[in-house]
Amino acid sequence: MKKRIGLLYGGKSAEHEVSLITATAVTKAIDFDKYEVIPIYITLEGEWCRGPQLTKPAESVDELKFTKNVSNPNYILEFILDENDKQAKFDVIFPLLHGTYGEDGTVQGLLELLNLPYVGNGVLSSAAGMDKVIMKQLFSVAGLNQVPYVYFIRYEWDHQKEAMISKCEETLTYPMFVKPANLGSSVGISKASNREELEKAINIAFKYDRKVVVEQGIEAREIEMAVLGNNEPKVSVAGEIKPTTEFYDYESKYKDGSTKLIIPADISPQVEAKMKDMAIRAFKTLDCAGLVRTDFFVRGDEVFINEVNTMPGFTPYSMYPLLWQKSGLSYPELIDNLIELAIERHKEKQ
Ligand code: ATP
Ligand code: MG
Ligand code: MG
Ligand code: MG
Repeated sequence: MKKRIGLLYGGKSAEHEVSLITATAVTKAIDFDKYEVIPIYITLEGEWCRGPQLTKPAESVDELKFTKNVSNPNYILEFILDENDKQAKFDVIFPLLHGTYGEDGTVQGLLELLNLPYVGNGVLSSAAGMDKVIMKQLFSVAGLNQVPYVYFIRYEWDHQKEAMISKCEETLTYPMFVKPANLGSSVGISKASNREELEKAINIAFKYDRKVVVEQGIEAREIEMAVLGNNEPKVSVAGEIKPTTEFYDYESKYKDGSTKLIIPADISPQVEAKMKDMAIRAFKTLDCAGLVRTDFFVRGDEVFINEVNTMPGFTPYSMYPLLWQKSGLSYPELIDNLIELAIERHKEKQ
């Protein structure tokens, strides 16, 4: 019997559009002979809209945008469960959501309560991986090498601006990278080369979150690795990113097509081994499941972990599926693997 997969995408975060591109790409790779695919679109306003079963790949993101049929959150439960016997309508939910309200444990919590298997990370790893401050603190406990950083909340910025600027300048040197604590796709991130730019960058980041991280800017290569598995996670080959812009920003990720992805990255076996070890340790530290993409900075032989992404992009220019492709796992096989891992983990929890 075919498995019923609920593709969950869109969502309330600033990465809504990226999620739509990811979902479109997944419909192109998923095997319709094996799976019944039901699209569930969450609008930017947070309304849940179930579309008709997909029987072929979506040609464009617009095909995956539906109008609301569930706007009251109280109906979500009925919407996901079968009205007749309260059996789950779906064998697996595939949450292709990036950023807050999707990659941060909120949706995962809902699916846990509904007792539905779902692809990827659970509540804890999703939440910890989304919050760059919590992630860094846990990495630090695990002894993972990372760049220095400071952080503060909007209330502190509003009331003690000078003290927050001093905190940055006493701990870090310019250039600094300013980021909303909870987001992705480089949304709200700026590089600051002096105090004036720093203030501006902090104000931008606070538009997206109530907590901001300021990091030491580093001149380094950017290399990523993909991790796949539950109890025995496997690591892919490494891939290097070479943006033509100042840094790997939103435009260079999804718009201008000029960024070069070099897979496998040209690195020494020592650096590769160090990265693999760090990728696994990061995965275990956050108690991850299913998948994670780990982003590193590499300067000479020194490796710094930048972050993990608990639901990395699956767009045509996204590293995660490309890294597995170069590691010998095709995109459709990757999807099969992720679905099997979701079922395996669900059984393990029963
Ligand atoms: P995504 O989730 O899409 O990978 P993100 O929004 O979580 O991205 P980061 O990966 O933390 O953001 O940073 C985005 C980009 O900004 C990096 O890929 C890199 O180009 C640049 N960058 C971030 N932090 C630093 C830093 N400390 N030094 C130098 N460059 C940095
Ligand atoms: Mg990220
Ligand atoms: Mg991300
Ligand atoms: Mg990143």
